[in-house]
Amino acid sequence: MENQTSFVRSLCMGDIEENVIIPYPKLKDEEKEILRSVIDSVDATLKGRDAEFRKWDREGELPESMLEEMRQLGLFSLIIPEEHGGIGMNSTSYSRTLQALAKHDGSVAITAGAHSSIGMRGLVLFGTPEQKAKYAPKLATGEMIAAFCLTEPGAGSDAAALRTKAVKDGDDWIITGSKLWITNGGIADFFTVFAKTDTEGGQITAFIVTRDMKGVSTGPHEDKMGLRASSTTTVDMDQVRVPAANVLGDVGKGFKVAMKILNSGRTGLGGGSIGSMKSLIEMSTKQAKQRTQFDKPIAEFGLIKQKIGHMVVECYATEAVVNMVAGLVDQGYEDYAVEAAISKVFATECLWRTADEALQVAGGNGYMCEFPYERIVRNCRINRIFEGTNDILRLFIALTAMNDVGKQLKDVSKSVEGIFSDPIKGFGVMSEYAKKRLTSATGIGGAKKKFTKLNPALKDQAAIFEEATRDLAAAADRILRKHGKDIINKQFATKRLADIIIDLYVLGCVLSRVNTSIEDNGLEGAAKEIEILNVFAGQTRRRIKGNFGKIDDNDDDLITSLADHALEHEGFKWDNL
Ligand SMILES: Cc1cc2nc3c(=O)[nH]c(=O)nc-3n(C[C@H](O)[C@H](O)[C@H](O)COP(=O)(O)OP(=O)(O)OC[C@H]3O[C@@H](n4cnc5c(N)ncnc54)[C@H](O)[C@@H]3O)c2cc1C
Repeated sequence: MENQTSFVRSLCMGDIEENVIIPYPKLKDEEKEILRSVIDSVDATLKGRDAEFRKWDREGELPESMLEEMRQLGLFSLIIPEEHGGIGMNSTSYSRTLQALAKHDGSVAITAGAHSSIGMRGLVLFGTPEQKAKYAPKLATGEMIAAFCLTEPGAGSDAAALRTKAVKDGDDWIITGSKLWITNGGIADFFTVFAKTDTEGGQITAFIVTRDMKGVSTGPHEDKMGLRASSTTTVDMDQVRVPAANVLGDVGKGFKVAMKILNSGRTGLGGGSIGSMKSLIEMSTKQAKQRTQFDKPIAEFGLIKQKIGHMVVECYATEAVVNMVAGLVDQGYEDYAVEAAISKVFATECLWRTADEALQVAGGNGYMCEFPYERIVRNCRINRIFEGTNDILRLFIALTAMNDVGKQLKDVSKSVEGIFSDPIKGFGVMSEYAKKRLTSATGIGGAKKKFTKLNPALKDQAAIFEEATRDLAAAADRILRKHGKDIINKQFATKRLADIIIDLYVLGCVLSRVNTSIEDNGLEGAAKEIEILNVFAGQTRRRIKGNFGKIDDNDDDLITSLADHALEHEGFKWDNL
């Protein structure tokens, strides 16, 4: 691998590592061919079945017949290597398949997605040859469906606080504990379970647990806001005897296994978000042309066009960032956790806005269960919560960036060595010395590189990016100077930095995508995409300036004070009675 640099992490130092994002990743012809045949079968099977999707949503269960159709379509085999009976898709093709599924129904998409994105991804990434030979063929046919079991009643965002125990007994482990809100829980036979071992320090370890093991049980289906037909249950383990051969990865390294699974699977959720957005844009445009008010189709009104235009820009940008991250994974980059987190936050928030605006375009019809809008709104709300809440991912994005800035301190005293190894906790002990040295040691505050590979027609948009890169480096510097070791407690500031990083990275991906389109289609052929880039670049420039300005000019203390007041009184204190 020629270049293993994380684009975003370099960006926070003021460096534009354009080789990482240019050219925009593309599928090979043979990959396209397989993908096309899978997507055609998905469309042929799921198209026109909205009444059934609605019924299953209302009833809160996906019928066994649908699961069987999914098995026949090979939807449980997508990422399993061919030698174990799977299709062996790479991340880009997998993400694109999830897109095709989500265009039709969220519950079907999440059932397939939870199986491959997280349920058995640990086996693909960390499984021994014996584990793969034993389980992968059954997972590929869907004879076994998989689930990922991390969350517990007391361990959500703070996953490391989990209490499920694994106690060594001879060669086996005895696992006891309860997992909460497990997608596919009720239909799965294969569970990737995270438990604390009784070894020194109580480290987390990942295990393969199967339903046929004595002591495994699952609770009733949860009655949920959305994705109602997808199975969500508790997974309970009472003294389950698990052979040592079922440990996934190394004993004590389970947290790393969990994070790697989540990072690697993020393009599935991103793909699903794109599929729903495309379907919403299709419905909204048709609806806007059909519905007449004030003697005109509502499509002719500026406020309707504004909504639809923004949906198009956000869908294009989401596809740019999700494909870029999938491409990084496929090219063998190891360091893509921040980029993957950005793609998850961006995709899920764009889908949320698109679903809300599409419902608005549909007016009262949008609120009626007869139409799919309300269902999509309900379905997509969870995307901002599961697989890491967007709030936690924002902290991760910004604190990793600042952690990197800290690491640049080549001549910092021994006293601060190692404190940056944990991006969230490390800043608690950052010394004043490190803080003072930060700017001079890293040289942040000025972009070290400019784009050289972009088409000259994109020079204005590239300039916006380069200027924003300087703003980002300056913002990281300013925030660290202002808050020093207290940065860990300054979440308002951290969120602003994360938002700048998110905007900037997505803009980089859009620039790259449009650049490739110009290469392939010429300036004229890419004209509409250049318009999208112009809108997105303008939006990001304004947002980044706004966030930058708010570092010093904000109402953070007042908002904190009002929140404290509400928390103290447990509610809203004023009433006009
Ligand atoms: C439908 C559904 C399916 C799911 N599927 C699975 C699954 O298959 N496997 C699995 O393991 N889990 C699954 N989950 C669990 C999901 O991953 C968690 O709900 C999620 O991680 C958040 O945890 P929590 O709900 O406990 O929220 P909490 O962690 O209690 O968070 C509550 C709020 O506080 C915020 N917050 C928490 N800590 C901080 C902080 N340090 N700083 C600022 N804000 C903070 C959060 O962002 C959030 O807004 C599922 C959940 C649902 C609802």
